[in-house]
Amino acid sequence: MTSLALAADPFAALVADLDQVIGHVAAHQPRSLQRRLGPSEIGCPCHRRIGYKLAGVPPCHHSMKWEAYIGTAFHAQIAKDLEAILAPDGWPRFLVEQKVHVGQIAGEDIDGTSDVYDRVSGYVIDWKLVGKTSLARYRARGPGAQYQVQVHTYGRGWRLRGFPVNGVAIAFLPRSERFERRHFWGEPYDEHIAVQALAQVDAIDAAIKAAGVQALPLLSTANAGCHHCDWFRPGSRDVTRGCPGELALPHPTQSLIELIAPKEGPWPCPPSPTPTTS
Ligand code: SF4
Repeated sequence: MTSLALAADPFAALVADLDQVIGHVAAHQPRSLQRRLGPSEIGCPCHRRIGYKLAGVPPCHHSMKWEAYIGTAFHAQIAKDLEAILAPDGWPRFLVEQKVHVGQIAGEDIDGTSDVYDRVSGYVIDWKLVGKTSLARYRARGPGAQYQVQVHTYGRGWRLRGFPVNGVAIAFLPRSERFERRHFWGEPYDEHIAVQALAQVDAIDAAIKAAGVQALPLLSTANAGCHHCDWFRPGSRDVTRGCPGELALPHPTQSLIELIAPKEGPWPCPPSPTPTTS
């Protein structure tokens, strides 16, 4: 922090201090610091991006997680608002911001924090605050594989806790438009979506364990928001340290994972245990 009393330009010093506070908090939110893969990353269509994280390759840059900062504040507010609502049985209708165990990757537990479980409908809900262009895209084309996998994975977490899961939903909420533009997407819960995605990440992990970072150039890529990717390094020639981006890459003719991943289903789904709350 600068000392405002000593600063030649107190206004510039004030702005610098506020930038520093927001930047520090945004960079130190739990999701920004998370080392282990979480449900939001499991369905990422870019296998290389998953590979970087599993291999522990240091990010090429630390971008300011401004969207995450706004999102965290929104999550805290909506959680407070929903917690106050009771179901007909007199208990809270919505279970919010709860830790769920969603499965394992290479024998390690994968946990996540689910935004909402509705005890009345049996739906698992995830919030997404999105900009105008993204909102229009989600309205037109649905949530995309990554978000779909994420919310089904949370569904699995609730089911493993013994709660009935009838459906999953994503609420796309406008960050810069009127609330009426909000878009709710939903579909019946399908555990196979989560189990299949976990198996795929397991295969990527096996490739990384077998070949280390040398597996990274062989993993398939997809434009999963390259400009927001922690490993995006424009012009990179050493893919083991940073990626030049999907459009700049020659594509492997066949993904390493397609060669070694287990074939699709049927995937075993364990039985439901007794419900627990926390
Ligand atoms: S920069 Fe793009 S292609 Fe490269 S790892 Fe990241 S998301 Fe994948």
